[in-house]
Amino acid sequence: MLDNIRIILVNTSHTGNIGSAARAMKTMGLSQLVLVDPVSEPDGKSSALAAGAGDVLANAKIVPTLQEAISDCGLVIGTSMKTRSHDVPTMVPRECAEKLLDEVGSYPVALIFGRENNGLSNEELRLCHFHVYIPANPDYSSLNLAAAVQTLCYEIRMAFLARGEQHPEQDSPYPLSEDLERFYTHLEQTLQKTNFIIPQHPGMVMVKLRRLFNRARPESVELNILRGILTSIDKSIQK
Ligand code: SAH
Repeated sequence: MLDNIRIILVNTSHTGNIGSAARAMKTMGLSQLVLVDPVSEPDGKSSALAAGAGDVLANAKIVPTLQEAISDCGLVIGTSMKTRSHDVPTMVPRECAEKLLDEVGSYPVALIFGRENNGLSNEELRLCHFHVYIPANPDYSSLNLAAAVQTLCYEIRMAFLARGEQHPEQDSPYPLSEDLERFYTHLEQTLQKTNFIIPQHPGMVMVKLRRLFNRARPESVELNILRGILTSIDKSIQK
């Protein structure tokens, strides 16, 4: 179950943090580490700080973009340095752990951590269904990257242990990130055909529509209906 939880580090600067994150994961029973465009690839410092978690480090996947890291995930949660976000519901680590375990039986689920110097960008945060905030000291709430990984992984472990032998349902209704991306591409193309979006001046329409659908979190069946509607519009334009 825990092997389906993907820890994603975006654009990490310090190779030591990558090793410490691997160690934080392994102590809590997690193994799937993905590095998105790390500033430097894992090195001797990473191995030293990974200690007995060299296997997690060695198995870490390196990918160029966050979209690629989450494409086969059905649930994406990003760490946020804000207690509230206008776009996306925000949770504390305990709720985040429950949510991940609720859905992990159906598809890989992702937990994303940002850069040491400035966290995740707004664009990256918009790719998430939920945000998680560690309610730390308001006067100084910025944890070290690997300490944040440890905190979240600990909550995942606690939730996992509390569930005992109970296994999550295997039939979560939500589509994968790549299916949603295909829908957004189709939506944009159709809206260009109807001239609702002018390619030369696209404005913020797609950003706002993505926000709407991310918030609504359509189920696979609902997404298929939306795709069907777009196809019917495409066909009637062709005629
Ligand atoms: N100065 C940066 C801090 C980044 S800390 C900023 O203000 O954005 C590096 C990473 O650790 C963050 O991107 C996040 O993934 C994690 N992190 C640190 N403190 C956190 C907190 N209180 N809640 C959630 N994630 C946190």
